[in-house]
Amino acid sequence: GVAMAKSKFEYVRNFETDDTCLKNCYIVVRLDGRNFHKFSEQHGFLKPNDKRALGLMARSAESVMDNMEDVCVAYGQSDEFSFVFKRSTNLFKRRASKLMTHVTSQFSSSFVFYWAEYFTEQPLLYPPSFDGRVVLYPSNRNLRDYLSWRQADCHINNLYNTVFWALVQKGGLSTSQAEERLRGTVAGDKNEMLFSEFNINYNSEPQQYRKGTTLIWNMAEEVVTKKVKPANENEKEVHVTRTRRKIAAHHCDIIGEQFWEEHSGVLES
Ligand code: ATP
Ligand code: ATP
Ligand code: MG
Ligand code: MG
Ligand code: MG
Ligand code: MG
Repeated sequence: GVAMAKSKFEYVRNFETDDTCLKNCYIVVRLDGRNFHKFSEQHGFLKPNDKRALGLMARSAESVMDNMEDVCVAYGQSDEFSFVFKRSTNLFKRRASKLMTHVTSQFSSSFVFYWAEYFTEQPLLYPPSFDGRVVLYPSNRNLRDYLSWRQADCHINNLYNTVFWALVQKGGLSTSQAEERLRGTVAGDKNEMLFSEFNINYNSEPQQYRKGTTLIWNMAEEVVTKKVKPANENEKEVHVTRTRRKIAAHHCDIIGEQFWEEHSGVLES
């Protein structure tokens, strides 16, 4: 560009602090909806799990992955999503605030942009917002433990919410009575309550609710038709196979080894 004369004000630039993420670490950006307890009530989310909301969250996360190179895996549940940048990324020179704000604003604008595709009958009543944070993980073990932590959180909350809303919707309890019934119970008690009182086998509940959503890149082969015109010949059509990156959604366990063995290219060794 054009070399510009520096103004006497220019020195204030040096007040910016360096927030470069440590080299060789996975960079995780996690975002979470602000006040979604209230937002979900005001927008008539079905309890305990609104499929439209989960679909919209995943769609917004895909938009982030499409626009932010180097996200190798993303995991979401409830009103949160985590994006993992590969350890070698140099996107935005690894500046934490740039990465975090781009992820969070791309996600937020997509959430609004795609709202009506998922909530066909429910207007968006006000602009929602999401907070963001950055955490660095130096090893594959730490990174996998991070993702396991989020999936375990999904399980604990979903088991609680499933019994809670069964007590309210099917058992006729008030929300405070349901809370009271659940105080001090452990996972086994909750499973038992669901089964004996409501004939619900927790393990038969949809995987999407129990396991959350994991997004990874897939190499998809695609056959495209191209018109070519060789010299001294008529134009003809040829078929070319191209590999394209496509996002694949999984609703499976990511705590154990199986997922990572089946998708061994996702994390660098
Ligand atoms: P904060 O601003 O501190 O994050 P919050 O109200 O968003 O507060 P969270 O702990 O993030 O609290 O919980 C999100 C809440 O949003 C859940 O407890 C649940 O009530 C609601 N929620 C999020 N996603 C869904 C969904 N798909 N279906 C039903 N309810 C949902
Ligand atoms: P980066 O992603 O690095 O920020 P950028 O293309 O957004 O790249 P900026 O330095 O932020 O670059 O400059 C914003 C550009 O957007 C301006 O140079 C100008 O071309 C355009 N722009 C922004 N606001 C207006 C406006 N109100 N009217 C016309 N052009 C605008
Ligand atoms: Mg919170
Ligand atoms: Mg929240
Ligand atoms: Mg949350
Ligand atoms: Mg700009």
